Amino acid sequence: MKKKYLVFRRMIFDMFRISPGMTTLYCLFDVLHAGGYILVMLCTEKLFDSVPLLAAGSPLSVSLRPLLFLIMATVFFEIANSLSNFHIEHLSPKILSHFYKRIYIKASHISPIDYERPEFLDMLNKALQGVEYGFFASSLILIVFTFYVPYFILLGVYLQHISPILILIVLLIFTPVILGQVIRFRLFSEAEDAIAPIRRATDYYEQVVCNRKFFKETRILGIVNHFMQLYQDGVILINQKTLTAEKKHIRIDAALRLFTIGGYIGILLMLVNSLIQKVISPGAFSAVFASVNMMYALAEEMVTMFSGQITQYAVSIQNYHSFIDLPENAKEEGSFDKTKGITLDNVHFSYPNTQTETIRGISLKIQPGETVAIVGENGAGKSTLAKLMLGLYVPDRGTVRIGGLDSEKVASRCIYQNCAAVFQDYQHYLTTLEENITISSNNSCYNKLVRLNHVCERAKLLVNSDSFPQGFSTMLSREFGGVDLSGGQWQRIAIARGIFREHDIIVLDEPTSAIDPIEESLMYQNFKEISEGKTAIIITHRLGAARIADRIIVLKDGIIDDIGTHEELINKGGVYSEMYRTQAQWYE
Ligand code: ADP
Repeated sequence: MKKKYLVFRRMIFDMFRISPGMTTLYCLFDVLHAGGYILVMLCTEKLFDSVPLLAAGSPLSVSLRPLLFLIMATVFFEIANSLSNFHIEHLSPKILSHFYKRIYIKASHISPIDYERPEFLDMLNKALQGVEYGFFASSLILIVFTFYVPYFILLGVYLQHISPILILIVLLIFTPVILGQVIRFRLFSEAEDAIAPIRRATDYYEQVVCNRKFFKETRILGIVNHFMQLYQDGVILINQKTLTAEKKHIRIDAALRLFTIGGYIGILLMLVNSLIQKVISPGAFSAVFASVNMMYALAEEMVTMFSGQITQYAVSIQNYHSFIDLPENAKEEGSFDKTKGITLDNVHFSYPNTQTETIRGISLKIQPGETVAIVGENGAGKSTLAKLMLGLYVPDRGTVRIGGLDSEKVASRCIYQNCAAVFQDYQHYLTTLEENITISSNNSCYNKLVRLNHVCERAKLLVNSDSFPQGFSTMLSREFGGVDLSGGQWQRIAIARGIFREHDIIVLDEPTSAIDPIEESLMYQNFKEISEGKTAIIITHRLGAARIADRIIVLKDGIIDDIGTHEELINKGGVYSEMYRTQAQWYE
């Protein structure tokens, strides 16, 4: 229990650290807002007490003064309320973006192999959710301490000052409210537990019916109706369960109202009795009586905040903190040596949560400036090997040195800044064509436009007015009011982006599946020219592209089956020559 509240404390302290001035002002105005309520009560008491004096012939000023104070107190109360709202409105985006930024920075420090672990991805998602919920719940808890608690303390002091017996009022207010909230919470969390899995399923069905990525297949195969029916069934079930809980809630709520009315009558009797006994003045009677509804409302709000979903919120914040606190291994700095190429020494690698090794003891030296093609069947381990050669993954055993840097020991940044890569699952950035290509650039000291035209020519991307009405400034993607492109065009853009970046090593991991084999062959020919002097690794299962390489590595089940030039491998008559013969017709 204690730990649960500690997570809120940490988040609230963080709010003060991120924006000390604004958070302090927000709290201060909240306290003043709470004080404003009591001040209004006090002024109301004085005003009502002055009326009999006025009737008995006292001058008008006896009532004017408390009236003036009442107006001032009301204005003060409203100003404090507005200023508190203003500060939280401005505070929220600032603090939320700071929390999100912390997650993004943390995520960027996490090793890429962790992104292959479902439990890590789950943790990341939960951390992201934890920010919104956590901040919301922490600000509620903060309000409890800066507004509700001061309000009820000041109310207690005020009632005690009128008559100690009136303190009982606070008790009469809180008892039914707390009882009501506890029952309500139990009732709805039971219903929510039953509804949650159905809601997850209906969310998914909704996606299948409406989401762009499903629509081609679901329309053609006529699956829409099936999922629509599942969606409707789910919604009906959710409504039934909610209705059952609502009905139960209404019955219990009615019973609880009786409790509240009982408390209300108790307060009234106590006030009337104190008035008759002359323990309190008519002014105090009126001021307290007029504020009872407000006291109930505030007590209910405060209890709802605490009882509500505080456990769930605490878990959300815990998720956020667990992610932020993930350990990071400090790595050495190192300088990349262009003359060293890539060396693999007895490299073994397996994916997290798998029993079998994907790469099984590979040793290899790639010379600087050499073009190497890695070929093999699907699942042979080509992409995995490429990721090891880029330092994205580190080996379980053995060493990978890239530009002389040990990928396990050196900060990955030192390696990445000399590399470029285009993957099969390259990204479509929803920005302009120019940004899509230059986004990865790590050098701005050249003529951008000349280089842009040059790489587009090399990637065989035709920047004509039909496809790109605003040339390089054309916005890509219709979501942002731009144009849609074919798969082949997106692939060429991805390749242009890869070669635009200044690099010593480049990896092309089959980014050409949407380009026909002959075009692809020509493109690789071009690629060879521009990668002159750079280390290039081409992964492909189409051997027309592999021909241009200085050496071809044939990978099979995570080990090197053969290695040599195209001619050497053809002459050997092994797996490569067999694959080549099968594919020869593509190029005829
Ligand atoms: P290729 O590029 O030759 O098609 P990959 O390197 O993509 O082969 O995959 C090699 C093997 O590793 C395959 O058996 C594949 O199932 C497995 N593999 C790839 N990615 C993962 C992953 N994220 N988690 C577990 N296994 C994986």
